[in-house]
Amino acid sequence: MQVYLDNAATTAIDPAVLEAMMPFFTDHFGNPSSIHSHGRIVRSAIEQARKKVAELLNISPAEIFFMGTATEADNTALRSSAESLGIKRIITTKIEHHAILHTCELLKSWGVEIVHLALDTQGNFNLNELERRLQGKQSTLVSLMHANNELGNLIDLQKVSDLCREYGAVLHSDTVQTMGHYIHNFQHLNVHFAVAAAHKFHGPKGIGFLYINPDMKIKPLIYGGGQERNMRSGTENVCGIVGLAKALEVAYADMAEHQRYILRLKDRMIEQLKHSINGVSFNGNAEMPEKCLYTVLNVSLPPTDDNEMLLFNLDINGISCSGGSSCISGTPVGSHVLTELKVDADRGAIRFSFSKFNTEADIDYAVAKLAELYKT
Ligand code: PLP
Repeated sequence: MQVYLDNAATTAIDPAVLEAMMPFFTDHFGNPSSIHSHGRIVRSAIEQARKKVAELLNISPAEIFFMGTATEADNTALRSSAESLGIKRIITTKIEHHAILHTCELLKSWGVEIVHLALDTQGNFNLNELERRLQGKQSTLVSLMHANNELGNLIDLQKVSDLCREYGAVLHSDTVQTMGHYIHNFQHLNVHFAVAAAHKFHGPKGIGFLYINPDMKIKPLIYGGGQERNMRSGTENVCGIVGLAKALEVAYADMAEHQRYILRLKDRMIEQLKHSINGVSFNGNAEMPEKCLYTVLNVSLPPTDDNEMLLFNLDINGISCSGGSSCISGTPVGSHVLTELKVDADRGAIRFSFSKFNTEADIDYAVAKLAELYKT
């Protein structure tokens, strides 16, 4: 049996998305910058895709900029803000994605102060601390991911955005893990930058977007032919853009039903793991559904001599998932997130992540195999 439980890494493409993309691999191959009919058809598809995405997020199409990856979108938001908006300080955490952490390291070398909020043992920061930090006079950007890709922890983006509004800070949120999984309404949030990667919601890889609030006038990261209204030069990934819009449309169409279905799978796994493995525990906000992605479950397993072989053993049994224990005595391997939470390095940690394509049989099989590995 083959079981894919690594949907926070990437998801399978939805057949409807592939179907929407196909004509742009074959008949509609024109360059969208060409003014002849071959180009115009493709230009029109890109603008339709932009309109669809904007409609779903309740914003104007002019606020969406298609980019190669979410990593590129994160880089653009942070680096261009530092360059164009005179940002002197970034408030963030140490459990952001490396697209943020490594960009912050670069910005630090440019003279930007990086402030990390303290985290509790579940990986949550305190809004009071954020407010206290925001009271400084420096021109500040807050970069906080909407959901953590390893733990699933969700932040209260509305409250963070209200605080940023009150204290005049620019807000960037890495929304990669929530886009296509929750409703986003950027009209009602004071978010200035948000990002997406289509492959996290059953779209293709190599395409994402950056949402830019119209008040933010920033320079691009990449210069060239001036595509994407000068914000991202380079010939557009037309198939990807069409696929991204279709994937978001499909995700929004049945979102509530998929949320319920996937949450049931996650709950089933939690219950079965508790029942079949002594000493199992869950990292982050796993057991607080309103504070955790329904798609992610981060599990810590009891120490054994074989913990390092855990993922390998699951893999040879056909189960694909992600691992990562804390870094041992400061070595730069393992999960920076679990290390930050001081999760016991002797315990194996696994991130299971689910999608609408998983079944109860997938969960039962994965737990049964895991229980076998832990049989004493
Ligand atoms: N941000 C978060 C929270 C992610 O989970 C990921 C991918 O795992 C990224 C950014 C980067 O996405 P990509 O590799 O598609 O650029």
